[in-house]
Amino acid sequence: MDYEIIIGLEVHTQLKTETKLFCGCPAVFGARENLQVCPVCLGLPGVLPVLNRKAFEYALKIALALDCQIATRTKFDRKNYFYPDLPKNYQISQYDIPVAKDGWLEIKDKRIGITRVHLEEDAGKLIHPDERTKELNNGRTSPSVSSSFSSSVSLVDLNRTGVPLVEIVSEPEISSPDEAYQYLTELKSLLIYLGVSDCDMEKGSLRCDANISVRPRGEKALKRKTEIKNLNSFKFVAKALEFEAERQINRLKDGLEIGGETRLWDEDRNETRTLRSKEDVEDYRYFPEPDLQDFTITPQSLEEIRKSLPELPSARKKRFISEYQLSPYFANILIQDKPLADYFEQCLKIYNSPKSVCNWLTSEVLRYLNENKIEIASLTITPTRLAGLVKLFDEGRISSTIAKDVFMEMFADTSASAEEIVQQKGLFQISDDSLLETLVKSAIENNPRMVADYRAGKKAALEALLGQVMRLSKGKAHPDKARQLLQKYLQPH
Ligand SMILES: [Zn+2]
Repeated sequence: MDYEIIIGLEVHTQLKTETKLFCGCPAVFGARENLQVCPVCLGLPGVLPVLNRKAFEYALKIALALDCQIATRTKFDRKNYFYPDLPKNYQISQYDIPVAKDGWLEIKDKRIGITRVHLEEDAGKLIHPDERTKELNNGRTSPSVSSSFSSSVSLVDLNRTGVPLVEIVSEPEISSPDEAYQYLTELKSLLIYLGVSDCDMEKGSLRCDANISVRPRGEKALKRKTEIKNLNSFKFVAKALEFEAERQINRLKDGLEIGGETRLWDEDRNETRTLRSKEDVEDYRYFPEPDLQDFTITPQSLEEIRKSLPELPSARKKRFISEYQLSPYFANILIQDKPLADYFEQCLKIYNSPKSVCNWLTSEVLRYLNENKIEIASLTITPTRLAGLVKLFDEGRISSTIAKDVFMEMFADTSASAEEIVQQKGLFQISDDSLLETLVKSAIENNPRMVADYRAGKKAALEALLGQVMRLSKGKAHPDKARQLLQKYLQPH
């Protein structure tokens, strides 16, 4: 029997605001534990929350970019639950009137519906010294927790309490782990273009929970779903979904029920396991937050935010294809990483040859970045310098081998232009006919065997002779010209 996989994703993205959602505490990551707190985010009695305007604007930007219907009036609600990292015993979130609903995000040629976009505050973070020791061993630094804590103790860091989050919930329209990966990649790229989040999964500013169920293909009714939490990389999302789909299909085949439960992804064991049975919405006893008024979104304010939106990835991709004649494949590689696409366009201001610049960026530059695990922002070669190198190559003044050498050389010498390096090292391609002739003649004289082979009809011998010319010229001979000269001199007299 053939089975269908049904996936819906809930993504929490931490907004890049200076302060928290309802108080003035800094929202930056990495401070010492429990130093970025105040009576509001500590949940002390008698305090009142005040909504962060920037966070609200950011949520609207996300909603607009996802083509959602935006509420004209929205409100906040209390989601009640007890957890040690939630000092108020409730979280201010949005229940029945989210900021926005009914949008979509395009992946490849498919639209995935967006159910809702809402704002909420983050909870704190529990620290289990046991795990912290593990982290320390992995080389991460968290110096303030003493190793003298026994494993029976858990600590809480409330710096993150009240940090603004936007939750983006997709419709259950994702039909494979691969599509889930695509969706997350597109969404992350969109959020980075909007400038609303740094989407750094390691710092927890992008988190994903996945809902998954399976059913025999053709069947209408949905089976019970499970929720997978603790997914801190897109790769793990895909792996966890693959594991879970297979587990559920096997249970159905064996005639077993699938429990509605929350499962955790265990990256060490490559499997999901039960965390708890899933709470129903009623368990949270949502009710309107009495300390916050309703918020009205006027058409004028929305229009202002719409005007402030940057060019989004989908529009940029279309422009790259029409304006620069790039293939959709290469346009996609460039636009998915905003800084890379920006770098590309800066290069074009210096040397307007989109195809060759794209070629260099997507081959040599990306290879270098991947091998060294660095981002384009940390590349020491400025767009001006790279554009200069590509131009030298395009003009035939250096060979491709030398161009690659110069590219590496430019990392060592962080100020010199490609032209200066080539000049200093005498690497310009030899196009001068008389000099090339000397090299060609010498190659012919010293390799009678290859010459005989060529004259006997072995075409490969010509390339071998060309190799000799390149060797004699230390890679600087212009290959096309040298080939022509070889053919000329090898003709029977
Ligand atoms: Zn605070």
